[in-house]
Amino acid sequence: MSEAQPSKKVGGHAYGRRHLQMSNTAEEGELCIYHGHSLGRFSTHSMRFDSHQACVRCVAGAREGRISFDIDRLLKKHRQKALKFWASVEIGSPDECWEWRGCINKRTKQPQFAWRRPGLSSSTQHHPQRVAMWFSWGDLGYTAVRTTCGNKYCCNPFHLIPQKVGVFVDQDSYYESFELACELHTLKQQVAEYVMEKAIKEQEKLSEIDNLTEREALILNPDTLYGDKFEAVMTDILEGKHISQANAFNLGLHDKPTDHLTEDENPTEDY
Ligand SMILES: [Zn+2]
Ligand SMILES: [Zn+2]
Repeated sequence: MSEAQPSKKVGGHAYGRRHLQMSNTAEEGELCIYHGHSLGRFSTHSMRFDSHQACVRCVAGAREGRISFDIDRLLKKHRQKALKFWASVEIGSPDECWEWRGCINKRTKQPQFAWRRPGLSSSTQHHPQRVAMWFSWGDLGYTAVRTTCGNKYCCNPFHLIPQKVGVFVDQDSYYESFELACELHTLKQQVAEYVMEKAIKEQEKLSEIDNLTEREALILNPDTLYGDKFEAVMTDILEGKHISQANAFNLGLHDKPTDHLTEDENPTEDY
């Protein structure tokens, strides 16, 4: 095999290129999700191997067998995504399979995780095993990933081996690594906090709706006594919650219906 051949650009879906040999040349690509992997301090690009769009620095780390669960190594804007991802994974001990509890595509029965990564691929859904690889082995783009356990729902990075990168895998040292055990422990805590926060927000939203429905029923009911109505309106005004006090920035539930179509709504069912 000759060295330093630029990969022949194959068009089409990045996913289709995953089994190709990794190219020897890199180009300026999408900014890596990890800290300090940009071209320069203020650059918004990272060097990526042009065949699979794998970040050059992350590939170097993976080749040394470095694996990490430290959310703080990610760029700030990706930390929530990581927490959201790991919240859908049943994180167990390092030698167990970590089952995917997130979205399963109804048509293909494949597990999927929504994430827009326009520089890497046009698809909005990715296989959770690939995402688990991104959040542990590194931002290896469309490098193929195989499991050692054969479980297609397993997202345990210790069971996932990035292909054609030449990774160094030392299972025993992973299991015995104190640092990794600490990182894993922290991650579990962070995920638990994230899930709790989400639940509280959800609860707050529900009770707000409850209060409002109750109030509206009271006001609109023709049988409500004048005194009760007056009291309800006065209480609302004193609490600053009356509709006449709603300002344009905080219309709450009297606002236009919000469009909840976020990227997580599966605009396409493919990945
Ligand atoms: Zn990187
Ligand atoms: Zn497994």
